[in-house]
Amino acid sequence: MKDPVIQQLTIPTPFAVGDVHTYLLIGDAVTLVDTGPDTAEGKEVMTAKLKEAGLTPQDIDQVVLTHHHPDHAGLTEFFSSAKLFAHRDSERFLTRTDSFMHLHDFFYTEFFKQAGLPDHYLILLEKMKEPLYAMERRPVDVYLSEEDALPGHVGWSVMESHGHSQGHISLVHENGTVIGGDLLIQHISSNPLIEPPFGINQPRPLPQIQYNESLNKLAALKPVIVYPGHGKPVSHAEELIKDRLVKQHERAMYVKSLLQRQETTAFEVCKQLFPKIYKKQLGLTISETVGQLDYLIFSKEIKAAGLEGQAVIYRAESGVKL
Ligand SMILES: [Zn+2]
Repeated sequence: MKDPVIQQLTIPTPFAVGDVHTYLLIGDAVTLVDTGPDTAEGKEVMTAKLKEAGLTPQDIDQVVLTHHHPDHAGLTEFFSSAKLFAHRDSERFLTRTDSFMHLHDFFYTEFFKQAGLPDHYLILLEKMKEPLYAMERRPVDVYLSEEDALPGHVGWSVMESHGHSQGHISLVHENGTVIGGDLLIQHISSNPLIEPPFGINQPRPLPQIQYNESLNKLAALKPVIVYPGHGKPVSHAEELIKDRLVKQHERAMYVKSLLQRQETTAFEVCKQLFPKIYKKQLGLTISETVGQLDYLIFSKEIKAAGLEGQAVIYRAESGVKL
């Protein structure tokens, strides 16, 4: 089989993460994987990069989204003549219906209270929604799920890789090439982010557990190269994944050691884990902290031992060695 032709189009974003990589696949169809953000600069640079490739936005037949975050999925309407492909679980953030945003706000308000955030931090909910300005609204035309073939491109299929976001997918080519979105990034460890459940009475997903499963799944593929959403292509994915999983486990065990000294809330653990940045980056750091707590509960190292007001108190299980 011929190796696929992949062109990387790098687009600036207004976010702390910096540039985002989108990928152009030319086969029987012209497919763009991720779009960059909905900003004037994003549109301008995207148009210029497509021009360099001899294309206009109208020439794109298919847009595939690795996940719904605004740095990756902003320009869905901009490519209105293309079919939009994404995982079903990404769609709620792509359309942002009133009923979903209602569930969204209700969920995070409760979640922050359960994490023990003092009331004056509840403004975080509004801050969290700010990046959504860089995202158009559009429903998905075709849902992609595990092992689906990518239409118009022989050899490519979908690998579900949830964790960083619920609807996260990667594209895998038979020759070992992976377009990985934010599944594996060389220079930063990708954050498993807390998202609302998929129904009012459903439990919330456990993104750290899902993310570790996704990393193991990627390692098992023995990828030759992973083209990420940010930073350099990853040529030693298995090694990097091993290192990421070890570091995550170590961080979780450090969290357990904090709880052995004193049982407490997620917010108090967050302050100890990220003393310098928790105030500025509360959304990310509380998500990361709760991810570690989820992992420790899942591994039976700690338990939710009770409530203090609405806040959950976590306690290390006794009799389990560190
Ligand atoms: Zn990203």
